[in-house]
Amino acid sequence: MRHIRTKFLILFVTFGFSALFLTGWLISYEMEKFFYGWLIKNLEKQTAVLFTTFELEKDHGRAFAETIARAGGFRITLIGKDGRVLYDSEIPQDELPYVEKHDTRPEIIDAAKHGTGTNIRYSTTVKTEYLYFATKVSPEHRKGFLTNAEYLRLCLPLADVKSVIHGIRLEVVIASASVLVLMIIASVLLSRSISRPLVSIAQVAREIQQGNLERRIFVQSNDEIGEVAKAVNSMVEQLNADIAQLKKLEKIRSEFLGNVSHELRTPIFMLQGYLETLLDGALNDPLVNREFVEKAHANAMRLNTLLRDLIEISRIESGDMKMSFRYFPISDLLESVVEEFQPHAEAKALVLRGEYVNLEKTQRVYGDKERLLQALTNLVDNAIKYTPSGGTIIVRARDGGEVVHVDVQDSGIGIAPEHHDRIFERFYRVDKERSREAGGTGLGLAIVKHIIEAHGSKVNLTSEVGKGSLFSFALKK
Ligand code: ADP
Repeated sequence: MRHIRTKFLILFVTFGFSALFLTGWLISYEMEKFFYGWLIKNLEKQTAVLFTTFELEKDHGRAFAETIARAGGFRITLIGKDGRVLYDSEIPQDELPYVEKHDTRPEIIDAAKHGTGTNIRYSTTVKTEYLYFATKVSPEHRKGFLTNAEYLRLCLPLADVKSVIHGIRLEVVIASASVLVLMIIASVLLSRSISRPLVSIAQVAREIQQGNLERRIFVQSNDEIGEVAKAVNSMVEQLNADIAQLKKLEKIRSEFLGNVSHELRTPIFMLQGYLETLLDGALNDPLVNREFVEKAHANAMRLNTLLRDLIEISRIESGDMKMSFRYFPISDLLESVVEEFQPHAEAKALVLRGEYVNLEKTQRVYGDKERLLQALTNLVDNAIKYTPSGGTIIVRARDGGEVVHVDVQDSGIGIAPEHHDRIFERFYRVDKERSREAGGTGLGLAIVKHIIEAHGSKVNLTSEVGKGSLFSFALKK
């Protein structure tokens, strides 16, 4: 694994060094260019001064040339048309015939072509660079000291300039090196500030992976790393919540299984009991045999109902319940349920009727008709079960603007407020014995709740003990 610190360091040093090297090189190049330009300008001015001086001091040209050269710190050379050196401020007059011809010097060639010429050369004799500036002498200046001169050349040693440039270069190098060192320190600090929290995040993540879900990352910064830490923390929180949810579901599942076994045991036990009694001789006893067979049958029926409801609820809860939504007249629901239960109601001396409030029987509602009929059946079945003889049960559809409210109202025993929430739970009954006697499974309202919720609605209950109950839900028009 390559560490972030190493990566940063390589990056910083490479880029930093390149950038500094480039700027340093550019600075010294520009500086040199500027200095030479400035010197050439100066030599040009000196040349102009010399021309004027030679013009004014026709008879003392040589003496002036010597004085000016000494004072200005440069060398003056006069060169004839054939390249012969006519005068040089640093060579005695009598040695001049031995000096080689100057017509091949680059600055002289340039001056011959363009009027002026410049050149920088290294002199092995003096071991320093010289800047040469040659000017072609115009005919009107060829008098007195300049009579035979074709070129006037000024020459300046660059030793001083060079040392200044070197000094500046050195300063640039020192400054660059310092910046580089600072950059390295910055890169180390920066990479450390990045890698440290990352290392601790990785450490915590490993611990979490090993099952320590209580572990959290301590978030210090509010930058991207802080975001990562926060994301990991909230992921763990989510994980914890999911696990808690799973545990809860597992508990509900095992409770359900316990409930189911318990519910099944009673009818099976009873059925077994009656059958055994019959087999043990009661079958031949005309006083009880029919009654026992009927009781056995009733328990078999009860088992059947229980299994039907169990299958239904497990289908709904596992998400296997396929809904098919469409529009249908509300009367389809009301009429079928009233018709189906009329015989039961009559048998118990109950009045059962449908009612339409502020809407036509043909009013259409949106939903799964079969499922809604099942929900309504469960509600009316309960109303009949829990309403004593002489009572009234109304199945009502009433207008609610954008919805149609469906009510199942009875004048029965009612439900105390503390049970209102719980009666929608599976197997929850207010009075177990009564429910069993009436053939209830304890699953009816749980099924109702699921079906109504699948329609985006909710079952409302208002009830008063001894007076009756009103179950109600809304359907979209
Ligand atoms: P059950 O098969 O026991 O009726 P439900 O889930 O249908 O199961 O109802 C749960 C419990 O709610 C019932 O046992 C009963 O105590 C109560 N309950 C339901 N409907 C009514 C009602 N119309 N009047 C009084 N109590 C009711």
